[in-house]
Amino acid sequence: MTVMNYCGITTVVVVTGFVFYRYFTGDTAGALINAFIVVMMTTVLLMGQSSRFRKAALILFGFIISLSCLLSALLVSPNGLLWAYLVLWINFLVLPRSFAIGCNLILTVTLTASVGLFDSVLHQISWLTVAVLISGFGLVFTNQLREQRRMLSELATLDPLTGAGNRRLMQHDLEKAVAERRRSRRPATLMVLDLDHFKRINDTHGHEAGDKVLSEFVAVLHNALRTEDGLYRLGGEEFVVLLRDMDAETAKSNLDDLHRRLSGKVDGPDSPLYFSAGAAVLKNGENWSKWLARADHALYSAKRAGRNRLIIA
Ligand code: GH3
Ligand code: MG
Ligand code: MG
Repeated sequence: MTVMNYCGITTVVVVTGFVFYRYFTGDTAGALINAFIVVMMTTVLLMGQSSRFRKAALILFGFIISLSCLLSALLVSPNGLLWAYLVLWINFLVLPRSFAIGCNLILTVTLTASVGLFDSVLHQISWLTVAVLISGFGLVFTNQLREQRRMLSELATLDPLTGAGNRRLMQHDLEKAVAERRRSRRPATLMVLDLDHFKRINDTHGHEAGDKVLSEFVAVLHNALRTEDGLYRLGGEEFVVLLRDMDAETAKSNLDDLHRRLSGKVDGPDSPLYFSAGAAVLKNGENWSKWLARADHALYSAKRAGRNRLIIA
């Protein structure tokens, strides 16, 4: 269950009780405010069920709980001051950071300035202190959460040795390129490359020397690509490059140029590092695995034709 669903459903259940209680005890204004909260919260919960509206629902949710808390503290009962603690915390969990900071600032300043809510100046100062502590804690906590999410995403998508994308990311990006080709005719080309006689480096200088060469090669290749291109390690000393917006007309000269600029330009322990490559321009209606298989087949042809060359399928 998400934070929004848990808080939203609890709010709807509890506040609906208050609507009836306030109405039957003659507090019509309070009942109306509570009814407004229930209606808005139900709408947001329904919106949150659709992935298209989930982000908007979360933002709306943060605004509603902040506004409800403010209204209920100012118009209904000073108990709203206690609810505010919870709202200050939840805002950091559901809202984008800048929205959460903005909402919490407004909530904290408005409530602190509402002198009538507090029994004494000491009460006012201690409420403000706890409110500021909660927001600070929310800021630190969401910072940590962000960093951990970034690390998890790196672990799940990057090859640890070279920092290139892994097969999972490659499949995801190739599927996306295929969908973009189908939807908006956006062209794409992919190139599979394999280092020539790489085993010799391992056999002569050891696995560690081989690892170092692989990392250096990827760094140089990465620098030669545009930011929109994708670079993935298919396995061993075999890599895939996804070149977005590259069509059949431009592929030949661009890829020949790329091969010329890179093959033999990274030094191995004894001699320069050459590579063979096969490329394929994405065809209409082709799926990602057929596309990759065509490039792979072209790579095989490049190897058989004598290595250190590029062949386009
Ligand atoms: P070819 O020109 O036909 O591609 O010859 P090759 O020697 O490069 O090809 P082959 O596929 O026979 O050998 C690839 C070698 O890559 C085998 C393996 O020892 C080495 N290798 C695979 N993964 C790694 C790795 O992560 N680190 C290191 N150092 N070597 C690896
Ligand atoms: Mg090889
Ligand atoms: Mg290989």
